[in-house]
Amino acid sequence: KMPVPSDIEISKSCMPKPIEQVAKEVGLFPDEVELYGQTKAKVQLSVLKRLQNQPDGKYVVVTGITPTPLGEGKSTTTVGLVQALGAHLHQNVFACVRQPSQGPTFGIKGGAAGGGYCQVVPMEEFNLHLTGDIHAITAANNLVAAAIDARMFHELTQSDQALYNRLVPSVNGVRKFSDIQIRRLQKLGINKTDPMALTKEEVNAFVRLDIDPGTITWQRVLDTNDRFLRKITIGQSATEKGFSRTAQFDITVSSEIMAVLALADGLDDMKKRFGRMVVASSKKGQPVTADDLGVTGALAVLMKDTVKPNLMQTLEGSPVFVHAGPFANIAHGNSSVLADKIALKLVGKDGFVVTEAGFGADIGMEKFFNIKCRYSGLRPHVVVLVATVRALKMHGGGPAVTAGVPLPKEYTEENLQLVAKGCSNLNKQIQNARMFGVPVVVAVNAFKTDTKAELALVVQHAKEAGAFDAVECTHWAEGGKGALALARAVQRASQAPNNFRFLYNVELPIVDKIRLIAQQVYGARDIELLPEAQEKVALYTKQGFGNLPICMAKTHLSLSHDPEQKGAPTGFVLPIRDIRASVGAGFLYPLVGTMSTMPGLPTRPCFYDIDLDPVSGEVNGLF
Ligand code: ADP
Repeated sequence: KMPVPSDIEISKSCMPKPIEQVAKEVGLFPDEVELYGQTKAKVQLSVLKRLQNQPDGKYVVVTGITPTPLGEGKSTTTVGLVQALGAHLHQNVFACVRQPSQGPTFGIKGGAAGGGYCQVVPMEEFNLHLTGDIHAITAANNLVAAAIDARMFHELTQSDQALYNRLVPSVNGVRKFSDIQIRRLQKLGINKTDPMALTKEEVNAFVRLDIDPGTITWQRVLDTNDRFLRKITIGQSATEKGFSRTAQFDITVSSEIMAVLALADGLDDMKKRFGRMVVASSKKGQPVTADDLGVTGALAVLMKDTVKPNLMQTLEGSPVFVHAGPFANIAHGNSSVLADKIALKLVGKDGFVVTEAGFGADIGMEKFFNIKCRYSGLRPHVVVLVATVRALKMHGGGPAVTAGVPLPKEYTEENLQLVAKGCSNLNKQIQNARMFGVPVVVAVNAFKTDTKAELALVVQHAKEAGAFDAVECTHWAEGGKGALALARAVQRASQAPNNFRFLYNVELPIVDKIRLIAQQVYGARDIELLPEAQEKVALYTKQGFGNLPICMAKTHLSLSHDPEQKGAPTGFVLPIRDIRASVGAGFLYPLVGTMSTMPGLPTRPCFYDIDLDPVSGEVNGLF
């Protein structure tokens, strides 16, 4: 057999169809498609209205067992499955994936277009600017950040009346509140529309957000792995004398704006979520929102094109929506609700939409169900759980697996004991999926060094653990035809009984929701709230955010909080260090340990190998 060429070589050897043709094949009308060059297009949301009476297709979510740091092939399997169903079994299909961050593309991990003969193409377009959505998010996020500091500055340097005169200026002798100011008045319980009728106290309440600088949770963002921005001091110029404070930059994809984009189900809903975003508390402990800052409308304008999903294709010409890419730890790590909704209409009753949830099933899938499906109202038909022999060996006690270092021999030679022992993790993740009442198909993603006996052992274990079916897949090396058995299993599973349910009722107290996830999904004995987390429980309950779903920020490298604990640990107490709120996106996120929101660059970052051929214009070295 010929060795499989590099990802970018495969990607470049494929001649993608003009994206107009892909759009036509999936049933989009020309006026619903906005072309961005030859290989990318945005799809207008009006298609949802046109197809509102069309029944939805089958909804399949791809997740995985607890991975090694190398990743076990969720993206690759998402693409492989769609190619098998579409190009080989001639079903209507769509893949829905996240847009990768530029940080990892130039840093350690590389791109995220899948791999081998299962990729979204052209991968350099996919991995870099795409249609500019992430850049728009950076702009929107930083507008809010600038608004916060500027507002504090103006409030501290001006009297109530001076602020009022500027916020509600007199134009030709007439003062008028803007829409956003009327919303703020309503929030303050002031039911007046005449700006001249406010009392002194009302003027004071209206003009002073009175932000407590110590409570600011909104940070500046950039889509570059720049570790030196993790902690900075802002406001050091003489013109801001006395206003310097410590702040930080996060990576753009961790911005709440990204999470809002992923969960919004239209422009109107997106705008409402923006308005609700809480950026800090006032000195009296009231939440200060984007609406209070007056920035909601401008955010919607900056983000108006990003709500349209981006259409691309796989190597075998199947349609793909690339849309939104929220962080999988402090956010929910799933692509957009809108892309899934449009795709489900486009494929129709008998078609399949395959969407990917980041990280392992304990995190990405749990959030897919409890957060994404709760907000979208969509009901999944099948879970595909990706497992690899190498990850199971690691769970069985194999030596550590590190990116950039050759795999130890335990991973390249047959070792059935390690595989068998590591199946405890597979078993637990199968139970996790079954807990939600959805049939699980295990996809054993085969690597070159896996032996027949090892692969067969995983399939057997998966079936015994209650998977609907388990199959070996070779799509990475062979494209869609290597995932035909998986595709057929998914077709059968989509007809099986389905009793989908959420794990918890959002009306439960915050602590109960966290405990339910920790005990039922992770296998913890209990949870322990550290003092900061206890304070936040009290604060958010008081502020009226107690009924939001929970978005756990936990390592993906273990079912527990400790990345060293492999397999399926039990009996541990999960520490909750702190809790944060993404009120606009619509979740609370408990921090289990410390989470980096700004990755760094290694000594030899991926960018060393990335180059442009100035003659042909070709991009090289991406993976
Ligand atoms: P995930 O989405 O779970 O993080 P990916 O699909 O991105 O995983 O795969 C991680 C990496 O492993 C990619 O570089 C991909 O090309 C590679 N890979 C996936 N499956 C295989 C396989 N069967 N053989 C060799 N490499 C693979």
